[in-house]
Amino acid sequence: MGVNIVLAAQSLQAMKGMIIRMKKDLELYIHIPFCARKCNYCDFLSGPASQDEMLKYTDFLCKEIKSQGSLPLEYRVVSIFFGGGTPSLLPLEQFGRIFDTIKECFEIVSTCEITIECNPGTVTKDKLFGYYTLGINRLSFGLQSANNEELRLLGRIHTFEEFVENYEHAREVGFQNINIDLMSALPYQTLESYETTLEKVLKLEPEHISAYSLILEEGTSFYERFSEHGEEKDAIPDVILDRLMYEHTKEILHSSGYNRYEISNYAKPGRECLHNIGYWKRMEYLGLGLGASSFIDHVRYRNFDAINDYVKALNSSLEVRQVEEVLSKYAEMEEFMFLGLRLSKGVSKKEFKQQFLISMEEIYGTKLMQLQKNGLLKIDEDHVSLTDIGIDVSNQVLAEFLLDDTDI
Ligand code: SF4
Repeated sequence: MGVNIVLAAQSLQAMKGMIIRMKKDLELYIHIPFCARKCNYCDFLSGPASQDEMLKYTDFLCKEIKSQGSLPLEYRVVSIFFGGGTPSLLPLEQFGRIFDTIKECFEIVSTCEITIECNPGTVTKDKLFGYYTLGINRLSFGLQSANNEELRLLGRIHTFEEFVENYEHAREVGFQNINIDLMSALPYQTLESYETTLEKVLKLEPEHISAYSLILEEGTSFYERFSEHGEEKDAIPDVILDRLMYEHTKEILHSSGYNRYEISNYAKPGRECLHNIGYWKRMEYLGLGLGASSFIDHVRYRNFDAINDYVKALNSSLEVRQVEEVLSKYAEMEEFMFLGLRLSKGVSKKEFKQQFLISMEEIYGTKLMQLQKNGLLKIDEDHVSLTDIGIDVSNQVLAEFLLDDTDI
């Protein structure tokens, strides 16, 4: 009988092992929708909040994490990204509670990349040390510019000097993986001022730099002032200057040892953002918090983005996650191409066949040939990727991968 018990215990252990091995990888995105004040160009789901409102929001976030049904049994967490908003506005204790709840509910792999977006001016050395102690291993600073006049125009709450102080504190407490977000094509920005920003940032030697062009979003004060209907429309750099800034970003960062691994993202070797790569490679992710998006089992979801609806759903049996789109096989193929082609490495024909049981050539053969002939795509035995010219006109190239009735 003793032997039987041992055997039963061993097979139970083996079964548990199988269940653990069978778990799929999942990324977590946690939305913290608070900002000290609204930047002039921003249309994200974010705004100011009191300490009490932040506390209540954390309560609901924890409730949402705990209400994931069988999901924690099926998935293990490989990356966590706290985005916003300004996650670093949330008091440290609230982060501790969120972390404890995630750990209580989900298996987290030991190599998990855990990022928090920080706005300069909202962190202290103690707070940064607190993040480090909690297990956060990557910081993403929203700097945008090293020019204080540009920062003021953008409506940012910090100066460049305040950012440098935060950055140095982050290094002192132990962070070895830091991203800095930058923006180009700002109103009144010159090529010289943009290059000075790049030089100042490079002196700090961050592991990762994201460099995007400003987009004028409707409904923002920047749109009112600087769009084609605005009185200061001429302040926006024209296409040629925008292009030059973009080219110079590539050259300057490349000569300083950064690889462009995605259209707008640069990293020192081995320091690419795993969370973002997962997104472009269509890894499944669970978004938690107000308005957060999820992609699970071929379905795209979005949480309620009105706080009353979000709270009401969590206080009842209503689903917080609303179905946005159940992806057809063809919609998945489109996503596979236009998300994957953003990566410098491009997309793999082998992976396409594994996922869709049909070859990429059978679906996209003529388009692939045309785009290659026009110098916009590179194609080798397995990979298809954008050429430099293809990256320049990436929006047009990626649109070519939308399928219509004649392709299917
Ligand atoms: S800090 Fe970020 S999220 Fe907040 S208003 Fe500014 S750009 Fe938007």
